[in-house]
Amino acid sequence: IDRFPRYTGESPDVVLHRVFGFPAFRGLQEEAVQALMNCEDVLLLMPTGGGKSLCYQVPALCRKGVGLVVSPLIALMEDQVAGLRQLGVRASALHSEMDYQEQQTVQEDLTCDQLDLLYISPERLLTPFSLSLLRRCSLSLIAIDEAHCVSAWGHDFRPEYRELANLKEFFPQVPRIALTATADQRTRDDILSALNMPQARILMASFHRPNLFLQAQPKLSEIRQVVDALSRHMGQGAAIIYCGSRKKTETMARQLREKGYTAFPFHAGMSPADKKSVLLRFRSGEPMVVAATIAFGMGIDRPDVRAVIHLDMPTSPEGYYQQIGRAGRDGDLSHTVLLYSGEGVARARYWLEEAQVPESEKRAMQGRLESMISLTETTGCRTQAVLACFGETLHAPCGHCDNCLHPPSTFDASEAAQKVLSTIYRTGERFGAVQLIAVLKGKMTEAVERHALHHLSVFGIGKDKTDVWWRMVIRQLIARGAIGMVGDHGGLGLRRETARPILRGDMMVSLREDASLKHLAAMGDGN
Ligand code: ADP
Ligand code: ZN
Repeated sequence: IDRFPRYTGESPDVVLHRVFGFPAFRGLQEEAVQALMNCEDVLLLMPTGGGKSLCYQVPALCRKGVGLVVSPLIALMEDQVAGLRQLGVRASALHSEMDYQEQQTVQEDLTCDQLDLLYISPERLLTPFSLSLLRRCSLSLIAIDEAHCVSAWGHDFRPEYRELANLKEFFPQVPRIALTATADQRTRDDILSALNMPQARILMASFHRPNLFLQAQPKLSEIRQVVDALSRHMGQGAAIIYCGSRKKTETMARQLREKGYTAFPFHAGMSPADKKSVLLRFRSGEPMVVAATIAFGMGIDRPDVRAVIHLDMPTSPEGYYQQIGRAGRDGDLSHTVLLYSGEGVARARYWLEEAQVPESEKRAMQGRLESMISLTETTGCRTQAVLACFGETLHAPCGHCDNCLHPPSTFDASEAAQKVLSTIYRTGERFGAVQLIAVLKGKMTEAVERHALHHLSVFGIGKDKTDVWWRMVIRQLIARGAIGMVGDHGGLGLRRETARPILRGDMMVSLREDASLKHLAAMGDGN
């Protein structure tokens, strides 16, 4: 086991080379490493795939004592520990899914100075037992991974992270580094104050990932759009499909297997053994697709993820960027496709409205949701738009996102918008898009007949356009807040404040012509 003597007194460069096999540090890594070597606290903001782990792994090996890594997810710890052991580093983890014997072994290793890095969950770290054990060891540093979890403002708040504020008192001499891929100012401030590290050196990398090609498509035929994207972009690598529900991960994986893909579901409700086996295969490097909830993510370190597809719009730009950031860690071209629908947008707003959370938190979440909706419908460079969400300015359009490649044209949709809004109003603000379109087009469906909608003046006023076209108009009216969901059965209603001036003709409505509409209509239900 002891391939390495414990503390060698080597410099970071030497350790980087000898242990990790890399010729040089990248970007801000060197500065972060130096700060820790000098016993300074650090807040490191770097996009996913930027190389955060090395920033604490290297100094942990260069300094005396064991490096403590606080990590929120067991899968993530296991991943890192396995990787490090392969490199000959003496790493272990302590978490609730280990049996008594395993935990015992780790504790013994700790007391005998046999560990270089210890990954630990926050709740485990803060038990009196762990604290007293660790206070008897010498610590080289403390790394707090996914540090945004400390912020209630953030998109992934974990109450147990709050207690980490006490680390400074327990281990006053030990330098700490907080790491995250979430970069907004508010989260940054929260991390510094919640972790009690006001003097920390703040290192912030650019979040621009030029090898990611961003694209958003209205959802027409989910499975066809997914297969289309996979066949173009996946190659011999992997793909991740983010699904809105556990059930969806299973149906999506099944549908893809029927189409000949190696595909697996992944979600938090699966047994640890099943999760582990998916992770193992994913890590093995074979071409495969994982249909997952957002539980699949943190610590997924496969370099050749060629495509990340969202079946539904994420609820914040931070979440979105973190998830697509799992593509292309090897720096090669990778594609991301966001599928979205008007109903999805309306539902997300509705759920948030109904959510039982404190008012201030709700407003923060609503702000993020609205940013995400604008990002989805933007007609400008998508890469610029997403970076702007993190306060970063990209001075020229990226040149390769969907909007840069096919600049969407806009058209005056005032009359079409009035037709849609009147139809919603006349039919009683209770039907979903499918029935509204049936009315607009003058189609006799069962629901039309049952509710006698064919007697209304709006019946058939939209005959001249396709279903897909009307769907596009409805979606964009939802996005700009003229239409919302009423109740939880998918019925659409008017949002008076925005809808009224449009109906009165006081406000011109300019909508984007979906660039991909023709292509999509050909493969979907574009009658
Ligand atoms: P993050 O935690 O920021 O998402 P990781 O620490 O997982 O990123 O690193 C992402 C990838 O980059 C890993 O495959 C890692 O081995 C590689 N990497 C990190 N630093 C370097 C470096 N200095 N030189 C070459 N590859 C690196
Ligand atoms: Zn662009």
